[in-house]
Amino acid sequence: MYRVWRPSPLYRAHRLEKALGTPAKIYYKYEGVSPAGSHKPNTAVPQAYYNAAEGVRRLTTETGAGQWGSALAFACAQFDLECEVWQVGASYRHKPYRRSMMEVWGATVHSSPSEMTEAGRSILKDFPDSPGSLGIAISEAVEMAAQADDTKYALGSVLNHVLLHQTVIGEEALLQLAKVGDTPDVIVGCTGGGSNFGGLAFPFLREKMAGNINPTIRCVEPAACPSLTKGEYRYDFGDTLGMTPLVKMHTLGHDFIPEAIHAGGLRYHGMSPLLSHIYELGLVEAEAIAQLECFEAGVQFARTEGIVPAPEPTHAIAAAIREALAAKEAGEERVILTAMCGHGHFDMGAYDAYFAGELEDFEYPEEKVREAMANVPVIA
Ligand SMILES: *Cc1c(COP(=O)(O)O)cnc(C)c1O
Repeated sequence: MYRVWRPSPLYRAHRLEKALGTPAKIYYKYEGVSPAGSHKPNTAVPQAYYNAAEGVRRLTTETGAGQWGSALAFACAQFDLECEVWQVGASYRHKPYRRSMMEVWGATVHSSPSEMTEAGRSILKDFPDSPGSLGIAISEAVEMAAQADDTKYALGSVLNHVLLHQTVIGEEALLQLAKVGDTPDVIVGCTGGGSNFGGLAFPFLREKMAGNINPTIRCVEPAACPSLTKGEYRYDFGDTLGMTPLVKMHTLGHDFIPEAIHAGGLRYHGMSPLLSHIYELGLVEAEAIAQLECFEAGVQFARTEGIVPAPEPTHAIAAAIREALAAKEAGEERVILTAMCGHGHFDMGAYDAYFAGELEDFEYPEEKVREAMANVPVIA
């Protein structure tokens, strides 16, 4: 099944380089060629496969931007599993075609918070107009899975096995770059839960730790949801209502409700424990970029390279452009590598809003992080 979209192409962004007038080489690994349009099927397929092999009949999950729900719906269809998705309410309303796509693959989709679960009802009681969040949708999907023996919950990011499945991105990129005789000086990627970034970066980090290459490796997150750069490193729940096991990770607090920025896949309160760990060790860096610069970068990328990026990887592209301009300033031919982890064909509403001048930059305030930590259990 991987042959449908793997190996994915590694492109050199010749026309973007030229537009920037930079001596840098920019390479991007393009994951938008998968059936769902992002890197998510790299883990949806093995998760569906192993669940089916264990006799599971149904998978439940959440989806924010709709990419993970689509990927799991596609994968479940391949292994005759039922798929039930809680889609964050704001996304359910704004991205109806993501829902249609999941339904075409046979999934059942609910707007979250929903009346179907205890978790959903408890949120709706206090916030009848709740736009939902990834944390709430996870609580709903986990609750449903916990109630039925033949049903399991599948997560599309954050967890170790997900990052492992995604390392196919970096393993391929290592071979592809070797073919053209380049090694990266800088690797940048967007981080929501950390899976496309970890997938690209970990194989290169292995080579770096072995002393074979020495790239700077940097995570890029939205200024409105800065779990690495502003969050605390401690145990927290993966979901809003506290139903998941505790996870040691960078977190903004499990009851964090993000601003309505358009990069729905980057609005999660936590961060992959593996990525949080190597960030603490100083093996990777992190920076936060606000959304207007990202959309500007996304539009420049589309007009030069031809591919319309999803709002999430525009963060990676913005960072790559910053690096390319810094290389120009320094007069150095640096090699920049990034993951263009999905196309934006279902995100045109976000581009409309950007062109209409309706987008704002949000910076998540430091005080709010400390406030949110009051609800996070303390574990020594
Ligand atoms: C899900 C998603 C993300 C965020 O998740 P990561 O685990 O951080 O990769 C980013 N971009 C796209 C296109 C996505 O679908």
